[in-house]
Amino acid sequence: MSDCLFCKIIAGEIPSSKVYEDDMVYAFKDIEPVAPIHYLIVPKEHISGASEINSENSKYVAHIFEVAAKIAADEGFSDGFRIITNCGEDAGQSVHHLHFHLLAGKKMGWSSDSAV
Ligand code: AMP
Ligand code: ZN
Repeated sequence: MSDCLFCKIIAGEIPSSKVYEDDMVYAFKDIEPVAPIHYLIVPKEHISGASEINSENSKYVAHIFEVAAKIAADEGFSDGFRIITNCGEDAGQSVHHLHFHLLAGKKMGWSSDSAV
């Protein structure tokens, strides 16, 4: 999509700090980290959010979780990590291109009102 921030980042039209890329996904550092490690993993196909996942595009979700496990292993997140996707207004989704937050590097609590 021409007006999508993450499509522009994937296309290299807006700079980002890349941490991983393959033919299906792109991963980069979140610009406003909420944990010592805060990456975003996004599909290269524009999908507006988790509510738009279907049998045609769910392969991206499976692959994103494979990539998260690989990044965690490669970067040594031995104490654990968290994967989050926000979908829709109530969840606070601010960029309408499917993305998974990968958080690590601190002991995290658990609340629906806080990611970390
Ligand atoms: P969400 O609020 O779940 O939709 O997540 C969107 C995330 O994108 C937020 O954590 C933002 O900090 C992050 N973000 C917004 N613009 C950029 C950017 N240009 N580069 C990296 N991360 C960004
Ligand atoms: Zn997009």
